[in-house]
Amino acid sequence: MAESPTLSLLARVEALKAKGEKIFEFHIGEPDFTIPPNVAEAIKRALDQEKTGYTHQAGLPQLREAVAHYYLSEQGLTFAPSNIVVTSGPKDTIFKLMGTIVDKDDKFVVFDPHWESYGEQVQFFGGSNIFVPRDKDNLSYRLDALEDAFKQGPKAMFMTDPDNPTGYKAGEEELKGIAQLARRYNVLILADEIYWLHCYDSKFRSIAHYYPEGTIILSGASKAWAATGLRIGFALFPETLKNVADQVAKVTGQASSSVNTPSQYGIVDAIMNPETEAWEKEMIGEFGKRRDLVSEYIGHLLGYELGGAFYAAPKTPINAKAFSERLLREEGVSVLPLTELSSGRHNFFDNRVRLAYVTDRETLTEGLRRYKRFTEGLG
Ligand code: PMP
Repeated sequence: MAESPTLSLLARVEALKAKGEKIFEFHIGEPDFTIPPNVAEAIKRALDQEKTGYTHQAGLPQLREAVAHYYLSEQGLTFAPSNIVVTSGPKDTIFKLMGTIVDKDDKFVVFDPHWESYGEQVQFFGGSNIFVPRDKDNLSYRLDALEDAFKQGPKAMFMTDPDNPTGYKAGEEELKGIAQLARRYNVLILADEIYWLHCYDSKFRSIAHYYPEGTIILSGASKAWAATGLRIGFALFPETLKNVADQVAKVTGQASSSVNTPSQYGIVDAIMNPETEAWEKEMIGEFGKRRDLVSEYIGHLLGYELGGAFYAAPKTPINAKAFSERLLREEGVSVLPLTELSSGRHNFFDNRVRLAYVTDRETLTEGLRRYKRFTEGLG
């Protein structure tokens, strides 16, 4: 398995910082918020009440009920709590799902560019990837390319919306088109929705609305509630895929017994306690202002609107790898070349980088100023 590119860049940035250099860090997608205070309180309460034993292998029943309640009230989608599996974070959700559904030589569709772990995990379990390039200029999903891929008989496709690494938010018609095609070719949609709260222009709507019987929702607490270290993920399965849900729960039972118990209580509170709402409003408001700053400084380098998550993928005037190395050295700004987040095979995205806007606005503004100055200097 290849090393995670974000993690290897992190090591280089840490080495520069250790030498006393100021680095404007835009290369990793870790929100700078801390968890809602009520969630912290709920975790402390769980510890005080000695709720530190195992839970059910599919997750704490209250958490599975809370997640079902959330999707019904927020999305109007019905899931039985028994078809929801809690895992140790979104990455773990995908890993256990892949361990369950990948048979040798199964094919999986991954859009290019994409979040790095999908393809690696598919291969780890003996499957292979069909990489489907997105439009080079505006990053939209190309239904013609997707249909070509579907003709090769894949088992499933990954759909990340809002998207990492680009901050692209698919429109409703686009989601519908993808879902209709997937249904026609009988391909499962693995809908990675971990950025569902980070939508700036309209309320999130899941692709599961358009293909409920064939969509598995992959989500979790990491980005929504700035809870990357709590390690809570969840997968929601339709009744038609109940056997897969049960199997994923069994994999958890054999691989990790159950999920961190105090964290599960914390996320029950994140969902059920109305206090979370004010925190969410503040957090999304702040990210929205940062999104506006990014659009103001480098919007002209994008070719699309930034609609969600907290990333942007601007075009670079020279090769993205060389660009990011020089940008780090000469301006102290760290970004990730998209070559690291696309298959590399068709080298389609060797002229874009990923910039994560996860710092305070002052730091972000100075970093963007440097980014713009450096880019203009090359032009
Ligand atoms: N899916 C996507 C699209 C992500 O961006 C990430 C994390 N960056 C994950 C899944 C995994 O989240 P975690 O590392 O918290 O498990």
